[in-house]
Amino acid sequence: MDSKQNTQSYQAMDRQSVWHPYTRFSALDEKPLPVITHGEGAFLYDSEGRKYLDAISSWWACNLGHGHPRVVEAIVQQARELQHSILGNLSHPRAIELASMITGLFPDDRRVMFASDGSCAVEAALKIALQYWYNIGEADKTKFVSLDFAYHGDTLGAVSVGYLDHFHKPFKGALFPVFQAPSPCCGTCAFHESESVCLNECFDTMRLIVREHAHELAAVIIEPMCQGSGGMRIQNPEYLRRLAQLCKDEGVLLIADEIAMGMGRTGRMFAFDHAGILPDIVCLGKSLSAGYLPVSATVVRAPIFETFRDKPKDHTFYHGHTFAGNPIAAAAAVETLRVYEEEGIVAQSAAMAKVLAEELSPLAAIPGVRNVRSLGMIGVVELEDNQEGDGTRRAVRVRDRLRENGILLRPLGPVIYVMPPLITAEPVLRFLAQAVGKAIRES
Ligand code: PMP
Repeated sequence: MDSKQNTQSYQAMDRQSVWHPYTRFSALDEKPLPVITHGEGAFLYDSEGRKYLDAISSWWACNLGHGHPRVVEAIVQQARELQHSILGNLSHPRAIELASMITGLFPDDRRVMFASDGSCAVEAALKIALQYWYNIGEADKTKFVSLDFAYHGDTLGAVSVGYLDHFHKPFKGALFPVFQAPSPCCGTCAFHESESVCLNECFDTMRLIVREHAHELAAVIIEPMCQGSGGMRIQNPEYLRRLAQLCKDEGVLLIADEIAMGMGRTGRMFAFDHAGILPDIVCLGKSLSAGYLPVSATVVRAPIFETFRDKPKDHTFYHGHTFAGNPIAAAAAVETLRVYEEEGIVAQSAAMAKVLAEELSPLAAIPGVRNVRSLGMIGVVELEDNQEGDGTRRAVRVRDRLRENGILLRPLGPVIYVMPPLITAEPVLRFLAQAVGKAIRES
């Protein structure tokens, strides 16, 4: 079989058996999916040898790119030594190393609860917040506040706090009620005339909600600095500073979902670092292992953890996933963190962020572009409706054109964004931004 036949055979089997996540099957009949067979650095290759720039880091996870020799070697070595061992009442070196490397990234004392996916890290965070209040005798604090446009994962608890109508409508009846505060977005959302109005109005409503309901609130949960799936809505760090102070003053926990924006994506190790705050609970995932294997973490301030020790009563957290802290996944994450440290990945991200912003800013002058914005290694070009079609349709055309030209991305409605691996070389980054501009002009 030649590579074309091979591809067609995969595509036929794919159509019969794979349920692709977040994929409109009606659109697949005309356009079979590329079959990705290997990756190297910032690039992916399909079964016919076509090369694609992975402009969204394979769902925002592969910050070190593909085929990193050190991470691959760590995985191979660990698989030979110990592939899995339960973390309940047992331990193993990689989980210990990873937990202490993660806690070492924080200035205060913390504990780490592992899981595999981001959604599970969020579920753990919500449950830890609930049980913390229960443990200290405030069992009425059972409610959460989240932002409009928030996304925190696809399990039901995460969907409750991160409800997006276009994704989650069928599940609405099964979700628990959550207070929703308006999403701050640096004045780019067209609801507010300026950044400061946006900041003040959004925060005022958040303050009203938290003050009025503090007695029944367990926590506020937020994606710091940028709401990803809700449309790459970038915040003013001042919002986070005010929110952290408010939570402290009102006795409400603050949960930071850093699953997408942590690990250097915004030019700092954690997005909340832009505001100089320290959330009570921090969720990590995706690029914790540079996307090599599924591992996520819920990182909890020590005083919260302390309430889970056995008291006269049993305060155990009866929660855990089979593959929590899996040794191979943990080995990948340990090596990832070493590479971050030794190769200065976060500083590299901050330096490349300037290049990305510089290259993208002229795109604001293209007719039909509503807004260009960026934060760290996230570059956003939001389209508006014009005579060529509505913004969402035009974004799909841009996506298809870029794919033909060897660049993979997935717009969110009219929002075209790039989140390439943090190791993407400067000329590649410039090429990417220019190619996006060209595709928008031509679509
Ligand atoms: N939180 C945020 C902010 C996310 O962006 C995502 C995934 N896109 C999740 C949670 C869920 O992570 P996972 O898909 O690994 O469950």
